[in-house]
Amino acid sequence: MTHDDDLFRSIFRDSPIGMALVDDAGTFIALNDAFARILGRESADVVGAHYSTYTHPDDLQRDREMMTAVASGSMPYYQAQKRLLHHNGDTVWTRVTVSDVAHDAASGRHTCIIQIEDVTEVRRTKELLEHRAQYDHLTGLPNRSRLVELLTAALSRTGNTAPVAVLFIDIDHFKLINDSFGHEAGDDAIIEVARRIRDSVRPTDVVARLGGDEFVVVLDAILTENAAQGLLAVITDAVQEPLVVGGHEVRVTISTGIALADVGLGAEGLVRRADLAMFAAKQAGRAGSEVFREDLHAKALSRLSVEAELRLAIAEGQLRVHYQPVVDLGTREVVAYEALVRWQHPTRGLLMPQDFIDVCEAANLVIELGRLVLLDACGLIASYPEFKGKVFVNVSTRQIGSANLTRVVASALDATGVSPDRLGLEITETGMLAATPAEHSDLARLTAMGIDLLIDDFGTGYSSLSSVLQNPVAGLKLAREFTLRLGDRSTGDRISTAMASLTTSLDMYGIIEGIETEAQYSIARKHGWSYGQGFLFGHSLPIEELLADAKPDHELADSALTLPGSSALT
Ligand code: C2E
Ligand code: CA
Ligand code: CA
Repeated sequence: MTHDDDLFRSIFRDSPIGMALVDDAGTFIALNDAFARILGRESADVVGAHYSTYTHPDDLQRDREMMTAVASGSMPYYQAQKRLLHHNGDTVWTRVTVSDVAHDAASGRHTCIIQIEDVTEVRRTKELLEHRAQYDHLTGLPNRSRLVELLTAALSRTGNTAPVAVLFIDIDHFKLINDSFGHEAGDDAIIEVARRIRDSVRPTDVVARLGGDEFVVVLDAILTENAAQGLLAVITDAVQEPLVVGGHEVRVTISTGIALADVGLGAEGLVRRADLAMFAAKQAGRAGSEVFREDLHAKALSRLSVEAELRLAIAEGQLRVHYQPVVDLGTREVVAYEALVRWQHPTRGLLMPQDFIDVCEAANLVIELGRLVLLDACGLIASYPEFKGKVFVNVSTRQIGSANLTRVVASALDATGVSPDRLGLEITETGMLAATPAEHSDLARLTAMGIDLLIDDFGTGYSSLSSVLQNPVAGLKLAREFTLRLGDRSTGDRISTAMASLTTSLDMYGIIEGIETEAQYSIARKHGWSYGQGFLFGHSLPIEELLADAKPDHELADSALTLPGSSALT
């Protein structure tokens, strides 16, 4: 036995790399522990067996050709990725090198050495990374980059001549769910919505998540806009079924944009069109859909340009405040005005809050905007002594707490010499929750000053009544969506009646919003509402116009806004 033989034996035995010797028929002559471990077997059991016993069937054909080439001496070695069969039935990915090590001249027989490394982990990691790069981790749906690939493929299959439609879906007010129940519950809601969308479409359609609460559906082989609308209706119905989030039953609505493939339009362009249409659906009041039209391009301003313009608008005084009367439903006299902000845009005319409030919130400009509106509202009270009622100002959640709303309000009152009991602040349910100690103390200090806090859009949030009422609330405004359901002899009527009596028993004043018809007016009165607001009583206008054309049914009350059964509040 030579020193070389010894060395080879010890390398063979101790190598961390799996090594085996096979004869030119493919039978194992010897193998080391590392090789046996990869197979999950004892070396002794493997010796004498044919290599094909442990080879994945799909790799056999190629292996056989290669082994024959090496064993016949026509190829010195070969290297490949190869799947082996583990004793427990698993497939093990390996990198295999087969080389011809000994050639017995007398018999003409070759002996081959096989070296293998287990690369299963490496492969798994690689697959995982590839998957992560293409799929959304939360829902497992394709992400944006995978969507673009799939949509590009779909478009080229149909030669771009038609039948692909793209739906861009966005959950309405999703932030409310996150704010009310926390992000984990929000994630659960996203997962459930994703599942419902997936279950509503055909197997050949693609559902992707772009992040946040945005989904894109690629409908393959859609011939008409109507067909796309039909499939969208199925999705919408499924998504809008009640959903359990954080132990509460909630209903979400979605806004959707639809775009059909167009000659020469790529995947990115098509998704952008659907996105624009979705944005238009949001602007049109949410919970609906819009089909892309060319003029949407011109209409839609990018968020960034709106933000820049808004900063300028605030600095240059382009914001206006209009006032809408709140009336006593018994007498139709005006008891208060709600301040509603408008933007007198230099080229686009008068813009409504829905066109810019969201951008304002996102860019934190709403704090400055809120300050201006408060000043205007206090200015109104100071300049019109003949008006004895209150002015209600909408307050964004961002203004409460760290932004110190109390200080902002106090300085507006100071600057105008107005008494705090003339001011009401309209705050949404989420704002009333006062999640942080800073928010809580801000609201408490405002109440202590004698300012009314009102819950705005009551019924549209998901908060429990008790948590909303943890702060002293002076009044409550029932959201317009319930007014729209008045007279349905069902939930609409039940909610309205219950809320009206609740406000009475909690000593709050109740205001029903969005009264447009005499019919709604009389039902609201029957349900026990004391105050109301809506186009039937008056639109929002600059205060000079409102006070100038005070009609008989638009009289100002002497004593404004009384608690049910108690004396005047002013
Ligand atoms: P909101 O507080 O619910 O205000 C009521 C909205 O309903 C107003 O729309 C008002 O014009 C409209 N409205 C009133 N009566 C009727 C009616 O009978 N029928 C219909 N269809 N609509 C009616 P606007 O002025 O567009 O305001 C939209 C929202 O913008 C407000 O909803 C409020 O959340 C927000 N907003 C307005 N001004 C301010 C502000 O100064 N600061 C903040 N943070 N938000 C504001
Ligand atoms: Ca309001
Ligand atoms: Ca409201």
